[in-house]
Amino acid sequence: MTKFFLTKDLYMLIVMHHKAGNKQIESVTKAIEAMGLTAAPIPGSERTAIGVLGNKGYVDDTTIRDLPGVSQVIHVSKPYKLVSRDFHPKNTIVKVGGVEIGEGKRPVVVAGPCAVESESQIIKTAIAVKKAGADMLRGGAFKPRTGPHTFQGLREEGLKLLVKAREETGLPIVTEVMSPDTVSLVAASADLLQIGARNMQNFDLLREVGKIRKPVLLKRGMSATLEEFLAAAEYILAEGNPHVILCERGIRTFETATRNTLDLSIVPLIREISHLPVMVDPSHATGKRSLVSPMSKAALVSGAHGVLVEVHPEPEKALSDGPQSLTFAGFEQLMTELKRLNGYLGF
Ligand code: PEP
Ligand code: MN
Repeated sequence: MTKFFLTKDLYMLIVMHHKAGNKQIESVTKAIEAMGLTAAPIPGSERTAIGVLGNKGYVDDTTIRDLPGVSQVIHVSKPYKLVSRDFHPKNTIVKVGGVEIGEGKRPVVVAGPCAVESESQIIKTAIAVKKAGADMLRGGAFKPRTGPHTFQGLREEGLKLLVKAREETGLPIVTEVMSPDTVSLVAASADLLQIGARNMQNFDLLREVGKIRKPVLLKRGMSATLEEFLAAAEYILAEGNPHVILCERGIRTFETATRNTLDLSIVPLIREISHLPVMVDPSHATGKRSLVSPMSKAALVSGAHGVLVEVHPEPEKALSDGPQSLTFAGFEQLMTELKRLNGYLGF
């Protein structure tokens, strides 16, 4: 019996109703076997549980959940494997241009406007954030806006301007890709491809960025659980691209005083479960300029490998996300504070 459990993984535990009879137990056992898996009934004094064993990976429970006599289905194995430390104990360090992101590295700062709006706006910002010590430049060319009547981004023109900003400053560029058919276009310019919160479960897009070798910044969906977040990253790794950085950017809760609720506890939790680097975006998490600096510092204290911060030359005139964008002076101040904090953290 012990040997049996050692050679096969326990995927699921099916708890039968206390009134379930042998016939029902037998039909569940047959359904498990029909899936190519092994059923191991564990009779108890009040009810029977059935262990589901095999060597396949995550098991879809839809054909079993509704069978007569089944009271509860408990998943033991997770819908992800490649992103997990159990499978890959060594920390992943993602390289973007010359910048290394991950465990043991100095936390990185990615800064720039929500959207690329004009040549002068992105070049000015690139020069200012570089001078203040940013490691990378961000800026959306393809923007996922909530409604269709707002600024949608400069698209290809925006990518060209980002490339100019990189030429000007040497900063690697981070920009969002919204659809599978634009992955190669965006990847031709970007150093780090961002998948936005709204697209975290766009599985075709995840597969497409999994097929290329450019690093990916995967943002957490606004209603995604940790398991869903890691399962989304699993899609990218499963296609062969291991260069993934996870990014907590706030989740939807009952609280409306902030744009989202920054779920900082997920940072050390991700570091326990996964080998992938994890960053925090305090701009979208809070939606409020005054909260960006305190939450950036909190992010680094919680163990984040970097922060993603929106900065704009004139936030009051920004075409998107002005209220959460730092001014150049505000960003310089933040960088001074982060440098001091890094000293304390040993970087
Ligand atoms: C952004 O980074 O500008 C953005 C749209 O972020 P998110 O997908 O997290 O909302
Ligand atoms: Mn934004």
